[in-house]
Amino acid sequence: MSHLRRLQRQALLVLKRGFSTPAVTSLSKDEKEFKNFVADFAAKEISPKVREMEEAGRIDQNLVKKLFDNGLMGLEIPKKYGGMELGFFLTVLSIEEISKVDPSVAVLTDIQNTLVNALMMKIGNEEQKDYYLPKLAKYMVGSFGLTEETSGSDAFALKTTADKVGSGYVLNGSKMWITNSDLSSVFLVMANVDKTKGYKGITCFIVDRNAKGFSVGKPEKKMSLKASGTCSLHFDNVEIREDRVLGEIGQGYRYTIGFLNEGRIGVAAQMLGLAQGCFDSTIPYLLDRKQFGSPVYDFQGMQHQIAEASTRLEAGRLLVYNAARLVEGKKEFIKEASMAKHYCSQLAGYITRKCIDWCGGVGISTDLPQEKFFRDAKVGTIYEGTTNIQLNTIAKLVRKQYAKSEE
Ligand SMILES: Cc1cc2nc3c(=O)[nH]c(=O)nc-3n(C[C@H](O)[C@H](O)[C@H](O)COP(=O)(O)OP(=O)(O)OC[C@H]3O[C@@H](n4cnc5c(N)ncnc54)[C@H](O)[C@@H]3O)c2cc1C
Repeated sequence: MSHLRRLQRQALLVLKRGFSTPAVTSLSKDEKEFKNFVADFAAKEISPKVREMEEAGRIDQNLVKKLFDNGLMGLEIPKKYGGMELGFFLTVLSIEEISKVDPSVAVLTDIQNTLVNALMMKIGNEEQKDYYLPKLAKYMVGSFGLTEETSGSDAFALKTTADKVGSGYVLNGSKMWITNSDLSSVFLVMANVDKTKGYKGITCFIVDRNAKGFSVGKPEKKMSLKASGTCSLHFDNVEIREDRVLGEIGQGYRYTIGFLNEGRIGVAAQMLGLAQGCFDSTIPYLLDRKQFGSPVYDFQGMQHQIAEASTRLEAGRLLVYNAARLVEGKKEFIKEASMAKHYCSQLAGYITRKCIDWCGGVGISTDLPQEKFFRDAKVGTIYEGTTNIQLNTIAKLVRKQYAKSEE
């Protein structure tokens, strides 16, 4: 059969059956159920605590326990270790739903699931998995420590050293901006075992909070994600046993690149959820608020802006779900992940600004959620790779694509 005939037959089948490939954003029954479960959890358990946690500058311990009890901190961990054994797409859905209510809580679950658990599951040896995964699924919060005072975007210029002493290693140096570190009991830390090898000396170490010589600084005071603890870490001759090296010596840079590529889809989902949460809290107000005798939603000048915002939200969701489904399908996803992260962090800034404008004066009141969403949105263009770094990645891959097609 010719190529054209085959295409015609397929088109006829689609017409007869009345369906084609499902939309990237359409959810299966199980996906819908899970999304509703997380949305219910967020409404009941997170929503009443948002302001209190924001003011206290920390996440409520009872809430952390409930996140664990409901499986939301061990989403992809296999059942045999006490996890939910769900896929990456559902992890992304969960981050989006939580972020609609509180992006600070979302980042707690995001780092735990997409970086700490993922590294332990995929790189850890059997003994490490047996020891850490049941704890990470049930009660142990973890952090991922890469950034330092002098190495942010240029992450592999890190200065923390790990010198081989006897059968183990001794860590010296410090890290900055480490999410969850106020709560974490375990830290996956990148340090260099041999500076002469440059980035090929970077190795991942498992550091327990109570390790001698290890200390955690005070949480940074910041404009975004105030409840999420972001602290510095200090290593002063911290002795690490050889069996606490995660993965292979000198492969830390490779793990970092790989896992941050996936992790940034989590940040994209966080920004998407935040934008949607802000939009959802705003539209009912616009339908209700009257000026010049009619709801402010009814003015065409408003409607065009709302339509534009709604279109961009849909575009953001397509990018995020597509990138997450590519990961789950084990397809190439790096460019799509960077696009999703870049687009959704801009989207969050745009939507939250618009929502505040549409609400008028009350938009900047701390009685309404818009101003918090607006502040929280700012961090999206910075962490897990700034906007420029995402654009660098996208441009590099576009160049590669065209260079290939010229061959
Ligand atoms: C709230 C928060 C939580 C964080 N959590 C963690 C965590 O859990 N673990 C962790 O390891 N890190 C964490 N980070 C660190 C974060 O990943 C870095 O802040 C981020 O990678 C940017 O690094 P930097 O802040 O040093 O900025 P810099 O790298 O100093 O960048 C400054 C500016 O220069 C631009 N720039 C730099 N290089 C280039 C380039 N090559 N091309 C074009 N422009 C460039 C950047 O885009 C940016 O605009 C967190 C940060 C924040 C704010």
